[in-house]
Amino acid sequence: MGRLRMDSIWIRRAGFRAAPRFSLAAIGNTGRLLFAAAALFAADVTRAVEALPRAQAITTAKQLAAGMDETLHVLPRIAYQIAGLRGRIEAERRLALLYAALSSDELSNREWRSMGDDALIAGDTHAHGTALIARIETVLANGDYAHGQQISDELAQLARSAHDDRLAAAAEEYQGVLDRRRGRVDTALEHQTKALALRRKLGDRAGEAAALTNLGTVARDRGEFAQCLDYFLQALAIRERIDVRLDVAYRNVALLYRELDDRQTTQGYFNKAVQAATRYAQPGFYASVQGSYAGFLNDDREYTAALSAASEALAIGEALGNRPSIGFEHLEVGRALLGLRRADEAAPHFDAALTIGREIDQRELISRSELSLAEIALSHGDTAQTHRLLDDVSPRLNSAGLKPYLAQAYQLRDRLAEAENDMATAHDFGHRYAALREELLGVRSSRLLAAIEIRKVREQSEQQLELAERTNELQGERLERGRWERYYGIAALAAMLIMLATFVTLLIRLKRLNLTLAARNELFDKQHSALTQANYQLERQTRSLYQATITDALTGVHSRSHMLGELAKLLAECKSRRHDLTVLLIDFDHFKLVNDRYGHLAGDRFLIKAARIIRNELGKDCLFGRFGGEEFIVAFPNRDERASASLAERLRRAVAERMAGTDPPTTISIGAAMLGRMPHADAIDQLIDAADRALYAAKQAGRNQVQGFKRA
Ligand code: GH3
Ligand code: MG
Ligand code: MG
Repeated sequence: MGRLRMDSIWIRRAGFRAAPRFSLAAIGNTGRLLFAAAALFAADVTRAVEALPRAQAITTAKQLAAGMDETLHVLPRIAYQIAGLRGRIEAERRLALLYAALSSDELSNREWRSMGDDALIAGDTHAHGTALIARIETVLANGDYAHGQQISDELAQLARSAHDDRLAAAAEEYQGVLDRRRGRVDTALEHQTKALALRRKLGDRAGEAAALTNLGTVARDRGEFAQCLDYFLQALAIRERIDVRLDVAYRNVALLYRELDDRQTTQGYFNKAVQAATRYAQPGFYASVQGSYAGFLNDDREYTAALSAASEALAIGEALGNRPSIGFEHLEVGRALLGLRRADEAAPHFDAALTIGREIDQRELISRSELSLAEIALSHGDTAQTHRLLDDVSPRLNSAGLKPYLAQAYQLRDRLAEAENDMATAHDFGHRYAALREELLGVRSSRLLAAIEIRKVREQSEQQLELAERTNELQGERLERGRWERYYGIAALAAMLIMLATFVTLLIRLKRLNLTLAARNELFDKQHSALTQANYQLERQTRSLYQATITDALTGVHSRSHMLGELAKLLAECKSRRHDLTVLLIDFDHFKLVNDRYGHLAGDRFLIKAARIIRNELGKDCLFGRFGGEEFIVAFPNRDERASASLAERLRRAVAERMAGTDPPTTISIGAAMLGRMPHADAIDQLIDAADRALYAAKQAGRNQVQGFKRA
């Protein structure tokens, strides 16, 4: 069954959530061992308590907490030695959560207090605030308002000095709760309004829902039913979205519909509240919902079901030590018993409720307990006791929230007066009761109308909200799609641009390459033509240089060196062919005198002219060169002595004749030598020497003549 499973779930949560998450690194090996033992212990107990009823499970959990504390209480000290103040704060926080989960308020509060003190020393605002909030929650649940005020003041002080909006919102909320519970609804409204604004500013949805719930409660106290329903429905809408304390939200709305006598809606919300409380697996939440539900069942005369629900809530409340809850659950158990006509059993419950009501100064609890006790007293015929109780209760019942009980009080007065046969008083209270009933019915019907109106508005705004959310979603999707479409468009465009850019770049590169290539080609062509030109010039130069070396610069005939080379070749050729070779050595006569008389330049001109005359007389096979100064050599192959002599004579005569007119006359002497006459000559020098000797003879013989031939 669900309820039993829930026990094991929250006990397990308590044991296992706390144990492994504990800062093991910070508490070292000792702590690790202790926690291993604790976890084992918790696991065993969990199995053991699985079969126990809810309330008994809480007691067992508390015992477990106490048992664990015998070893675990040293942890903060160990943590301090290992990790300093921060380590101790963390250890205390973990222990506080562990004990809270095991429903041991006493132990968890001890740790929260130590943690708060340490956080104050360490200047850790967050930890300090957390500890104060945890403590005030327990204190308020237990109805200890004086203590609650003290912690709330401390929290407000801390929020101010730290400029912390989260803590400021909590401080406002608790101050509002405290003010409301002490009947100061106006200041309570102010504080809760501030808390709401801060929570909205912080974007704290759970906090906003809590503030709206508190505002609704204040509105209910102020008799502003419509306002209250509006706040509760707003809180419900938020809680349905974030799934936090839905039990409270459903129960609050259920209670409002109970006041409207709308049993079906009330039942529906209570079912949801019980489901939510069961799901949260928090015994306190569950007990609170069961208690309220029991109240509804009592109103609905479902006394057996009411007794069962109220008894369970009472057992859990007692196990938790929650005073206001114990008080109200006693009241509901008593009402159920009274409905079941077990007045004797009911009375002690009303007594207990009254005691607690007085103890925590709870108006409604006191009033309703006294009314119930008065009813029992009346049924027992104890009119004195009935009077006493009704006199005590009446002044308290004039506030808006308690008017239905005032009606109940009038009814009791009527019956009491009847019992005492005081018909005038009975009539008076009967009248007052009827008037109040009418007023309450009027109130109820106007509330009903307001409720219908508010529900309609709420539903519309809910629908609008949903529509807006869907529109947002749709728009988001559209935006998303648009964004992707844009992305794709941009991507495609980018790809195209990149391709285009690449293409253009390639084109430009190609063009540049072509240009470079063309330029290089041009350069190459230029270089090539320059080179060709250079080669040509070089060739020409070489040729002219060669020409220069083989030609005599003045006369244009073979130079001496070339002539000697050519002569050697001709000699070898003639010798191999067995041809004769004739060598003529020519020397100008008295040329010193010619120079002296006509000048050296004129002498040059005479030499040039004479050389031309000689060459014109020579055949193609004849070699003609300058031997040095005004001496020349003529050589020709394959002519006999006669032909040779004739040619030499022709040369002499041509010069003499064509150069005539100078004084002394420009004539030449010729000495000849022939290979045929000196067949052993193997060097050209020997032939030249022979020709030179013949030339000498010609000079001696008077010049302008040929010597060296036999028949000269
Ligand atoms: P000979 O009849 O005994 O040969 O008398 P010669 O004056 O010609 O005496 P020789 O042959 O010893 O002298 C050569 C002269 O020829 C000397 C020089 O002034 C002249 N001569 C040699 N080469 C050149 C030349 O290239 N140009 C000119 N103008 N005179 C030259
Ligand atoms: Mg000479
Ligand atoms: Mg001479």
